[in-house]
Amino acid sequence: MKINVLTLFPDMFTPLQVSMLGRGLEDGKWKLNLVNFRDFTTDVHHHVDDTPYGGGAGMVLQIMPIKKALDSLKEKGKVIITAPQGKTFNEEMAQSWSKEENLTFICGHYEGFDQRIYDLADETVSIGDYVLTGGELPTMSMIDATVRLLPGILGNSASAVEESFSHGLLEYPQYTRPADFEGKKVPEVLTSGNHQKIAQWRHKQALKATLLHRPDMLEKRELTIQEQEMLNEIKAELNE
Ligand code: SAM
Repeated sequence: MKINVLTLFPDMFTPLQVSMLGRGLEDGKWKLNLVNFRDFTTDVHHHVDDTPYGGGAGMVLQIMPIKKALDSLKEKGKVIITAPQGKTFNEEMAQSWSKEENLTFICGHYEGFDQRIYDLADETVSIGDYVLTGGELPTMSMIDATVRLLPGILGNSASAVEESFSHGLLEYPQYTRPADFEGKKVPEVLTSGNHQKIAQWRHKQALKATLLHRPDMLEKRELTIQEQEMLNEIKAELNE
């Protein structure tokens, strides 16, 4: 996969170049092409923004440098623009994007984009109901969530399959050594060696975590008969 990013601050993207994603870059499992759209300005001062028509605070990004930067790309793939007004990013989008050959992100800054820039993109995406100074952190979050799903990026390929959101449930609780920390013990089943029982316990705990922390996710998910039974058990246990 090749990911293009149109940004005024390419230097911000170092976090994607360390750890597992960094190794993936070195191994050629994905490519990152950072494009500073200021390089596509034609005026002496290299302006990328201007005052808003109709007045008001702040500066608005102009369409011309961004259009030229996009046109310079050989393969754009899906073009994603970052904006608080967009559809909220989620794991399902990361899974779908991870199957693309090419992706292009456009990072805004200042007061945001001239409205006509949105027409250059396929999707407008937000990372949540809050406002950041620029699209760089949202873009890095979305790239991380997407690229970690590519084959060979995570050490253990199963780890992405069982995580929160991958099956419409949150992840079950995880434990590691010591088995007893100041009287807080690891659930016995996890040290039993009985893989079937461990799998059942984890499934039930994933349902419980989702019920307690994100009940909205359960409403959207079709539960199997076994899951419905587990859920009834969990509710009865919680009421005890
Ligand atoms: N004036 C805009 C508004 O009220 O919606 C906010 C502009 S913000 C200061 C500058 C840029 O940061 C945006 O153009 C966008 O690229 C990015 N940005 C800020 N918050 C974001 C969010 N929650 N999700 C995605 N991008 C965001």
